[in-house]
Parts: sequence; C-alpha cells; structure tokens
Amino acid sequence: MIFNSTRDKDLKANSLEAILQGLAPDGGLFIPKNFPSFKPMEDLLDYSYQDLASYIIGSYFDEFSKEEMDEIVAKAYGDTFGDKIIDLKAFDDLAFIELFHGPTQAFKDMALSILPHLMVKAGQKLGQKEDIAILAATSGDTGKAALEGFKDVDGTRVIVFYPKDGVSHIQYLQMASQEGTNLDVIAIKGNFDQAQTGVKKIFMDPKIRDQVSQAGYRFSSANSINIGRLVPQIVYYVYSYLDLAKKGKIKINDRVNIVVPTGNFGNILAAVYAYVSGLPVNKFILASNDNKVLVDFFTTGKYDKNRDLILTSSPSMDILVSSNLERFLYHIAEEDTVQVNNAMDKLDRDGVYRWFLLLDNFYANYATEEDISKAIKKLDQDREYIIDPHTAVAYSTHLKYLEDQEDGTYTMIASTASPYKFPTKVLDSLNIERQEDKMKDLYKLEDHSGIKIPESLAKLEDEKKIHDKTIEVDQMADTVIHILTGRDED
Ligand SMILES: *Cc1c(COP(=O)(O)O)cnc(C)c1O
Repeated sequence: MIFNSTRDKDLKANSLEAILQGLAPDGGLFIPKNFPSFKPMEDLLDYSYQDLASYIIGSYFDEFSKEEMDEIVAKAYGDTFGDKIIDLKAFDDLAFIELFHGPTQAFKDMALSILPHLMVKAGQKLGQKEDIAILAATSGDTGKAALEGFKDVDGTRVIVFYPKDGVSHIQYLQMASQEGTNLDVIAIKGNFDQAQTGVKKIFMDPKIRDQVSQAGYRFSSANSINIGRLVPQIVYYVYSYLDLAKKGKIKINDRVNIVVPTGNFGNILAAVYAYVSGLPVNKFILASNDNKVLVDFFTTGKYDKNRDLILTSSPSMDILVSSNLERFLYHIAEEDTVQVNNAMDKLDRDGVYRWFLLLDNFYANYATEEDISKAIKKLDQDREYIIDPHTAVAYSTHLKYLEDQEDGTYTMIASTASPYKFPTKVLDSLNIERQEDKMKDLYKLEDHSGIKIPESLAKLEDEKKIHDKTIEVDQMADTVIHILTGRDED
C-alpha cells in the first residue's frame, strides 16, 4: 500500500516506511493513497478479535505477510489484556464499546500495544540496523500506554517525560512504578507544552540525531499522528458492529451512529476510515469538552486555536491543536494538497484558518463540566452503569444530538477510559463523599458500582516507585543523550 503526505501527493512511502518515520519528511501526515475495501460484513461475523485485527491491519499495511501480521497481532493482544480485548455494554438503543481493558485502562492501549511490534518488524524488513528510540511527552495516558506497549520489546528504548505537577495521582503512580529494562520515566519542572516542545526540539536536532545514531539508535515517534496508531483503531469499530449483530441488537448491514469523545481527532478518524472501507455508518457524532475547537470548526468552518486551554475533568481531551484533523482535511479537499498547505500555514502563522464545509454525516457538540456530571449521574440512575468523564462527554453529546433531532438509529459510543482512572469526578458526580487518600476513592467507587477495581490499579499503592528523577526543562536534551549514549553532550 502506498501512502502519500497530506502536504504533497508526490511524496510516497510504503507502509513500513510510513510506520517507522511517523511524520512525513515535509511535515505532513501519511495517508493511504487508496483505501482497501473490506469483505462483506456477513463474511466477517465469525472472526475473533485477533483474526479481524490481522485482516484489517493487514489490508492497510500489506507489506507485512499474513504470517507476520498474525504474529504481531498475537504479541499485541495477548496476556496484557484481560480475557476480552474489548467489551460491550449493549442496551436496546445504544452500546458502550469499552476500550479500556488493556494494561493501562485507557483506549490508547488498543494502538500502543501493537505499534512497537509493527515498528520493530518494519525495521527488520527494511534492514534497519539501529534500535528504535521513542521519546514521548505525556500529560498522563499516552506515556503510560507507550511504556506498557514498548516494555521489554527487543530493539526498542523508551524515554517518557511528564510535567511534575501536571498528571493525576493515579497516573503518577502508574508511571513511577513502571517496570521494564528498556525504559526511563522522567519528571520535568514545567508544564506539558514545555515537555512536548522539548521532545520536538531533540527530535529535530541533527547533531543529537547523529550522536544517538553512532550509539546505535534512531528516533521514532509513537504519538497519534503515526499511521501505525490510527489503523489498529479501525478494528474495534468493525468488531463491535459485528458483535452487536451477533447479539441481535442490529441487523447486519444496518447503519449505526458512532459517538466519539475527541481530542486529537484520532479515534474518530479511525471510525471514518472504517466507514470508507465498508462499515455501515449513518452519523459520526463528534464530542468535545470545554475545549471545543473542533465543534466550532464543524459548525462554522473556522478553526481557531487562539483561546485559553481549559483544564477539565477529561484531561486527555484538553487539546487546542487537533493534529489528525489534517488527514481529514486532505480527504474532504479531495486530495487538494494546495488547500491543506494553505490551511496549515495559516494555523502556524495566525492560529486560525477557515474551511468551506458541507458534511451531512457529521454532528458536533460539546459537554461542559456540569453536563459531564449530569451524564454520569443520569446513566447510573437510568441504567446502573458507571462511565468515566471522557466517556461522559460522549454520552452527554449523544443526548444533545437526540434533543436536536429525532433519530432512532442504533448508536455505538466509544468508552475510552475506566471510571477507576478518574475517580474524583465520578464520585463528585454521584454525590459520594471523597476521601483524603485518593486510593480509598477507588474502593468507594467499587462499593457503589459493584464492578471490581482493575487489579493493576488496586495494587498501585504497594508498588515500588522505581522512577523518581526530576529535571529542569533545559536538561531534557542532555538527559536523552546521556541515556542513549552513556555520555554527556559535547
Ligand atoms: C486520548 C484520549 C481521548 C481522545 O482521543 P483522540 O484520538 O485524541 O481524539 C479520549 N479519551 C481518553 C481517555 C483518551 O486517553
């Protein structure tokens, strides 16, 4: 399969190169030149999650043989997941697709469990000699999922930076206790933006690249612009759809609505790709929190990042630059890269661009903090089901959609994190008194919901804090060089 850049149709890479490079050399994102078409839905009904993953990912990344892809998928979706890769909470009108049964209890596991294996195999097939060095800046979820995904994967090395006071207590415990022989977790005295800018600078610095290359490493990126993260996310939409058909909630080939809580526009774009390749979809419902840049864009055609970032109870969606939107623009511009380039230049220069949009199959709305609380409480009261704040953004937006228009279409809602990962907001929404000790909150929630605390979270308290290093922002480059080369910067 050939991939182009969103900024240059003549720039071509195969899937191996696209996965390893992450970002295209011209700064654009890799997009498939031609979308594969899936077999008819009825022919996929009997596939296990792994079989479907191998089939779908293999149809996009066809430079891997079927045997290679089967092996990669088996490594990715094996022991680190529970007995189910994903789970479905299906009601008669809607279903929550629980995407949080991986090692870190958030949906980023779905892609970051497989990306390391795709990268390593791609490197081998291209005859790359160096090991892969992953640098990541995280505000919580991505870093932990990357650490778990790359943990002890031969041929890889991971360094994660997080803002010392910018992650939740549970996220801190998750990262500080991370085991693995090929990784480092480092706190910086700064915010997430500084961490991200620092990582980008190191990444782009030719001198540092040279130094680490001599030590046998090549940088690669695990963030959500990598096509190797996007494609594995297509699988669960198709799998859930088939499961709903098997459960008799929908008839095969019926169209469904898909609601996605959105930050970087990655998860919802995967649903769009599923649709383009054959999943029957009626409406895509985009859900934002108070940082509603995308809702404004989809309702007015004006993308404007010039506003304050609001810290919400759904922190993984606190984003003003939705990087994956660039792919969507390319597709709706019918591959007119001039338009895409113009928009991205304007975004860089002024923080704003306008787009002429006419999309019938998209609906966009957002949820405030109060909406989120109401949604959590209402779902608990009406259906005795507890969701996390990110998923509550989606559920609240679904309710707003139904207020705006009548639509009896069956609805799939992407449930992106375990409520146990964000107990504070969940307990507050349910009017349950919180404890001084944050870990105790988990037990309160367990009492109320009757659902067991995920084991990996329950044991966090007692686990050894392995990583306790804190550095200044301007020490990031030195630290990376030291870790990868064993030397200090010269
Ligand atoms: C990352 C994340 C999101 C947003 O997904 P995007 O692909 O960035 O739109 C939503 N919920 C949770 C829990 C996340 O970690």
